[in-house]
Amino acid sequence: MNLAIDDVVLTYPDGDRTLTALDHVSMTVEPGEFTAVVGPSGSGKSSLLAVAATLITPDSGTVTVAGRDVTGLRPAERARLRRDHVGIVFQQPNLPASLTALDQLTVMAHIAGRPPRRAAARARDLLASVDLAGVEHKRPHQLSGGERQRINIARGLMNAPQVLLVDEPTSALDHHRGEQIVELLGRLTRERRLATVMVTHDLAQLGAVDRVYSMADGRLSRESRVAA
Ligand code: ADP
Ligand code: MG
Repeated sequence: MNLAIDDVVLTYPDGDRTLTALDHVSMTVEPGEFTAVVGPSGSGKSSLLAVAATLITPDSGTVTVAGRDVTGLRPAERARLRRDHVGIVFQQPNLPASLTALDQLTVMAHIAGRPPRRAAARARDLLASVDLAGVEHKRPHQLSGGERQRINIARGLMNAPQVLLVDEPTSALDHHRGEQIVELLGRLTRERRLATVMVTHDLAQLGAVDRVYSMADGRLSRESRVAA
């Protein structure tokens, strides 16, 4: 498997008590598998993604990304693992206003120290694969919300990750555009053999998903099959 979370507990300090955001959570995601986690606001979905992304170290339990146990890795090693193997698509596309669509992607290769010429070619291919060929030179304000979300997703794939983590990608979109984004994520997951986890509070958007978990009060349970 590309992503394995095993018996993870995560707490946050909360005054003089602690809040349990993840309560003995386990999940595995195989290459090419599109997994959704549904649950209400505050149930722990973003915390789960942060743990899977190695951005937060849990109190206990293990996280394995691309075959490596993250527990005990030094911060620099964890950052490298994240950069090379994890694509993160945050809820709000934070696309710098001054960068063109193409540069939103090539900057990722720059950060990773990859050669610029190949990065530009890869960025063009990725924009085409999210149906955005032709917008390479547009800036965020010249694009629709759905187009910005596609760029956000393409940017997450720039360093060819094995694991793709997507937080509420449809929350700012209408139903139809939201559905298209979820279908796109499904297609990219299959074509690129990604282990994808999408969290959402939107139960209506699960048509393209292989597996559904639900989250409530930090506890994760497997749903029998897609309800949508
Ligand atoms: P969701 O993404 O499902 O809305 P979160 O993972 O953001 O849920 O939050 C789960 C719980 O943890 C909530 O009660 C939230 O208030 C709390 N929480 C999230 N992040 C922090 C933090 N950095 N510090 C303290 N509490 C947090
Ligand atoms: Mg959240």
